[in-house]
This record gives sequence, structure tokens and C-alpha cells, in this order.
Amino acid sequence: MTGLDGRRVYLDWNATAPLRPEARAAMLEAMDAVGNPSSVHAEGRAARAIVEKARAQVASLVGGSVDELVFTSSATEAAQTVLKQPFLFDTVKACVTEHDCVDTHIRRSISAEVGANGLPLDGYRSPPMSGFVQLGLLFAFAAANNETGVCNPVVEIAAAAKEQNALYLCDAVQAAGKVGVQQVVKVADFALFSGHKLGGPKGVGALRVRADIQLEGLLHGGGQEKGLRAGTENVVGIAGFGAAAEAAQRDLEDGVWERVAALRNILEARLEAVAPDLIFVGREAERLPNTTCIALPGWKGETQVMQLDLAGFAVSAGSACSSGKVKESRVLRAMGFDAVTASSAIRVSLGPTTTEAEITAFAEAWTTLYRKRTSRAA
Ligand code: PLP
Repeated sequence: MTGLDGRRVYLDWNATAPLRPEARAAMLEAMDAVGNPSSVHAEGRAARAIVEKARAQVASLVGGSVDELVFTSSATEAAQTVLKQPFLFDTVKACVTEHDCVDTHIRRSISAEVGANGLPLDGYRSPPMSGFVQLGLLFAFAAANNETGVCNPVVEIAAAAKEQNALYLCDAVQAAGKVGVQQVVKVADFALFSGHKLGGPKGVGALRVRADIQLEGLLHGGGQEKGLRAGTENVVGIAGFGAAAEAAQRDLEDGVWERVAALRNILEARLEAVAPDLIFVGREAERLPNTTCIALPGWKGETQVMQLDLAGFAVSAGSACSSGKVKESRVLRAMGFDAVTASSAIRVSLGPTTTEAEITAFAEAWTTLYRKRTSRAA
């Protein structure tokens, strides 16, 4: 049993999307650009043109002006650039379901009161650090969650932030390219993006900073990226990110994700028909079109991932963290699920090239494993 017709089936697009052919082509071309984008000679200007073309492509997808967009090594670095500002805020109010790149920083740096569930605006607020002049408040609420695909009401969050005189950092990494995020960029003060989630290469991200906000760069050096991200630009990676953003924008305009959502819904209906005890996490909420998070209490997510991997399918359990280890999903716990359910979830995430045949093959493989399990238990 291996995937579909002996080929593996990749259903882990939220972890990383396969490289788009447009991104590959742009990267191959950029590899031959010999100049440093900061050099004034023709070779340097040619490399600069590659970077600026990509900036325009990304800005066109996400909204906002090119002057507000800074390339980084990852969305994680973009998040840290905001979160480690020394003079902008001293208190962060964040959703408990934020990605680790936001969550771990808040937990480590400021003692936080954890809210009861993962619903927006019911997150945790850190007490102001004593002994300092109070600086201000930062809201950190993602546009969409990576594990469940559940979307936050960013416009309402931005309005609440404004009311409390707070700045708003929006992690738009999972939303960008799958749904329109121009509205996010319009209402948030900072937004995070990652190239590899939309078919660009891994290791390149972007931070959008509202034009009138002055930030301190994390890295100091040659003053690249308007002084916000020193270090010679990753010209090849940025070229791939730009081309992927342009292709993603075309997909959005062509309604490709409506087809993906239809496939996701077919998958959920098939699984539900065989396993009435299956939990579809966040199904009632507004979700990204490509994501389903399913939990069967007692069947560990980690075990499901391994069994499905052996059967030729790539999915993930909880959030796939860098070490490859899988732990109980903090997101599901925050949403009110018990520990057993929170360690029994898998995320199946589809993309523009996912086919109905792949979904059918996955549903059949999962059903076979499910039936084996239930017959053993009987
Ligand atoms: N934010 C979300 C919602 C993500 O899903 C991810 C990646 O998993 C990140 C941020 C981090 O992105 P990067 O891999 O570019 O650091």
C-alpha cells in the first residue's frame, strides 16, 4: 500500500508547500546574478532589480506599499523583529493559539496569564513589567491558525486594539495565498509572511511594518532593508518568494482554493461516514479552505501519522515542530479539548495541486487503519 498508484501523496501543505515551478525558474535565473544588490555597478543593479521585483510581487499579493515590506530569513525572524522592540511596548495581549514563533517569546519573556480557551480576544495578557515607564500594549493575533485553519476576525481585533491604543501584530503566514489578506495588511500595524507556505523556498520571510512606525533592527550591519534587516539579501530565495507570491495571486484570482475547499469537504464527509465518533476541530468556524484537523480520542496523532506515512501519505500531528517531535497540541488544549483528544489529532492540509484521486486514496487508507483499530478493540 503506497499512496496513490505507488506514488506518495503529500497532504501537509500547512507545514510547507511544494516549490512552485515559477519559483524554481526564478531562483535558477537569480543564481546567475553575480552582483551584490548593494553595489552600484551594473551587476549590483541587476541583483537589486531581482529583489525589488520580488518585493513588488509580494506586496501585490499581500497589499500595502513596497516601502513597508522588509525581507527576512523567515516569518519567525519577522515576528522576533517586532516582539523584541525595546521601546515600543511592554505588554502583549495574544491569542493562546498563536504559533510558537510568537508564543514562545511571550511565554519566556513576560509572565503570562493563560486564558481558558483559544478564542480570539480571550487570550492572555501579560502584566506590565514593574519598574519601567509604561510603554504600551501590543496585540498578537494570527489571521489563521496553522493546526486547525480557524480564522480570527482580524477586523474586529484591529478595532479592539485601536480602542485600547494598542499596536496590532498579525501573523498572516498561513492565510497569505490561501485567502485574501489585503484587509489584514490594511488594519494591522505589523504582518508576518513566509515564502515556503505559498510555494516559495524555505528560509525567506517578510515583515510588513506600517510606514509611520520606526523599528529597531534585530541585526545591525550594512543597513540593508532600510536598516531593519542587515546582511546581504538572500537574492535567490527572495526571487523564489516573489515568483511564488505572483503565482499564488493568480491562483486566488482563478478561484483555485474554492476547488480545494470542495475537496477538503468531500474528504471530511467521507471520513464522517465511516467514523461517526471522529471530531472535526473548528469545523463550525470560518476556516482556511485547505485544512482539516481531525481527532479520534485514544488514537494518538503520532501513531496515525506513522501509520499513514507507511501507507504513503504525508500528514502531520499537532504542529510539526522543528525537532520533528510531536506533542499534545497546545492549540487543541487551549480550545477546551481534554489531554487525550489533544494528543489524538492529525492535520490534513491540501493545496492547489491536490487531486480528488489523492483524497479518495487517503480516505480509503485512513478507513482501513480505522477499521483495523476498531475491530481490534471490539
Ligand atoms: N506562523 C505560522 C502560523 C506558521 O504556520 C509558521 C510556520 O510553521 C510560522 C509562523 C513560521 O514561519 P517560518 O517557517 O517562516 O519561520
